[in-house]
Parts: sequence; structure tokens; C-alpha cells
Amino acid sequence: MQNYIPNTQKQKNNFFELLYTNGNLRIGKLRNSIGQELLTPAFIPVATNASIRALDSIKVKELGINGIFVNTYHMHLTPGEDIVEELGGLHKFMNYDGLIFTDSGGFQAFSLGQAITDGVGKIVSIFSKEGRKKQTKQEKLAEVTDEYIVFKSHIDGRILKLTPENSILIQHKLGSDILMVLDECTSPLASYEYTKLSMERSLKWALRCLDFFKQHNKGNQYLYGIIQGGYHYDLRIKSAEFICSLDFDGIAIGGSLGTSKDNIAEILSWIIGYIPQEKPRHLLGIGSIPEIFTAIENGIDTFDCVIPTRYARTGTVFVNEPPNFIRDITAKYYKNLESRKYDFPIEQDCDCYTCKNYTVAYLNHLFYVGEISVMTLLTIHNLNFYNKLLNRIRQAILENKYFEFKKHFFQK
Ligand SMILES: [Zn+2]
Repeated sequence: MQNYIPNTQKQKNNFFELLYTNGNLRIGKLRNSIGQELLTPAFIPVATNASIRALDSIKVKELGINGIFVNTYHMHLTPGEDIVEELGGLHKFMNYDGLIFTDSGGFQAFSLGQAITDGVGKIVSIFSKEGRKKQTKQEKLAEVTDEYIVFKSHIDGRILKLTPENSILIQHKLGSDILMVLDECTSPLASYEYTKLSMERSLKWALRCLDFFKQHNKGNQYLYGIIQGGYHYDLRIKSAEFICSLDFDGIAIGGSLGTSKDNIAEILSWIIGYIPQEKPRHLLGIGSIPEIFTAIENGIDTFDCVIPTRYARTGTVFVNEPPNFIRDITAKYYKNLESRKYDFPIEQDCDCYTCKNYTVAYLNHLFYVGEISVMTLLTIHNLNFYNKLLNRIRQAILENKYFEFKKHFFQK
């Protein structure tokens, strides 16, 4: 059943407009205080240090990317939120006027922070590189109490303390458009008991973040609450009920989402009905091609991920070849010497700068000899692939042909 949303359901300050819905499929528009707009569903590339790696902000805008995700933890360490604020905030600092999302810093506190001391109480140790390794005493990363997360800088060993209030203050000073509440991102390996305790703590932090945000916001920033609870039905429901009852501008879904896109779909199906229709929904850390479809058809508006940019830097490009849609041009180089002579672009019908100007043979060569320009060229192709896909998905939703499009896309 198609449904045009009347203007009365627009959010305050015109931050988010829901333009069209059809079941869980949604078309919306996010707008920042500068007046820049982002059509949703949208993929939000990660710009960890206020830069999408290998691209400058002008290139990012030229690619039509109107939303990026900056990591608060990294910006807090270097150059520091006070310097960014003095220089006019992130938009001015990086010369980018699109929508800037920041996280709370909590995730990196866990994933990058190092052990303070052995034997401190209430220590959690979670993310190995793959986020899967068993906990051991040597991997203790940060101390979490009901009041704060304490961790050691991965850059200079400084001890840093993150409270709900100073996470919001840092993001406030950075001047991002969309801020996230501080939460504890628990490991997929965490027990039910720990996930429950952690989720309940995150709810208290969400309240403190919201209070502090309301005191400091000048009307040009928007705060998202985060639904936690891992892969546990009752915990997700409790978190969703509480977070969605508060006056957040948008709702994010974080934490462990299970191990497959089916798990993601299941978790989203539990909670999506709790989120008010008129609020934008962000899924944290999701971004493979199948996951994007899963997120969109379960009512998600935006999602961030390092996949297309990180893959580019390791020589993996996105192509219209299901089921994985990726091709490793470096492996091809080693396995098939003929590919050194491939006198054609990554994709014949791709309209990106890289495919219009360079051949696979040349890109292979650049990668092999370690020329850094190849990082830029492959990143451009991959982000253009994602952008084109999201454009086509939005078009298909509007034409009521989403599932037809999806079937065709995966059968190609
Ligand atoms: Zn291309």
C-alpha cells in the first residue's frame, strides 16, 4: 500500500522529511542547518579523520556524496575538538557542506583503546581485529563503569575518560550535524547477562546525553538515540521501547547484529515498529551489498560502513557480478598475467572518472608498483558504484519496482 506522507509529519526544523513509504520501504530527505540535503535511503561513507581516505572534500562532493561519517575518538585525539571549534567546526575545517554524522567515540574506545592496567574491575575486552577472538586477560582494553569509559589513547598512551556528557560536548564542539549518544558496544561473544547489564547502562547514558544535548544545542545539531541489546529479542525490545519514548531527532541501531544478513533482518523486524515513522533510522556499521538491501527493506534510511573505501585500498573493486559484486584486481594481476594487458576499464558501462579515463592494465600496474594514485582511483569507482546503486534503489522504490529491481540485480 503506497502512502504519501502529509507535511504535518515533517520533523521539527525540517531536519527530516519522509517523502514516500510503501510498507517498510521509505524515501526521505535529511537536511542540515546549512541547507544541504541528503536523499534516503543513503549509504554514508566513513571519513574517520575528517577525510574519506584517498579523497579530498571537493572530490567527495563531485562524486555526489552528501553525507559522511566522522569518528569522534580520532578527532578528539587529533587535532582535538577545541581546535576544530576554533576553526569554525568540521564543515569549515574540511571544506565540506554535506551532512556530517559523528559517533560517540565509544566504539573506538573499545576497538582501539588499550589496557590501562591488568586487574581493574569491570573490565571488558572485546574487539580483536575481526571482533571474534575469545577474551583473554592480555586483551583488556578499557574500563567501563556506570559513569564512564576510561581508555588509553592508541596514539600517545594518554588516559582518556569518556562520559555521556563529554562525548556530547566533544561532538558539539566538532560541529557535526548528526550526533550519537554514548553507548557501550558489546561483543557478539558477550553473555546474555553482560549484554543486558550493558544495554541497561547504555539507556541511562542515553538519558544523560539527551539532557546535556538539550542544554547546549543551538538548534543546528540533531541527536540520535541508539538501540542496543545484541541478538536477544527481549533486550532489543526493552531498549527500543525506552529509546523510542525519548525526544531524539533520530534513532540508530547498534551493537551486535548476529552473524548474517538474515540475523540483521530478524533483529530489525523485532524493533522497527517501535520507531516512530517520522524519525530517521540509521544502522551502524553495515554496508555489504546484500546487507544494504536487507537494511532498506526493513525500514532503514541510512547506514555507514568502511567496506567500499577499505576494499578500494586493497585493490578490490565493485562490479555488477552477483553474488558478491567484487573483483580483486590485484589477485587477477598475479593469477592471470594476461590481465596486465587488459585494455578496458573496470566496468565498460561505468560512468565514473576512473573508468572513463583508465584501463584495468594501468590500474593493475599502479597497484603493483605501489603508486598511491591507485587508491584514489579505485575509491572513486567503488563510491560511484554505491552511489549509483542507491540512486537506482530509490528510483525503484518510487516506481514501486523495488523487489523486481532487486531480483534482477542479483540475477545478472
Ligand atoms: Zn568506474
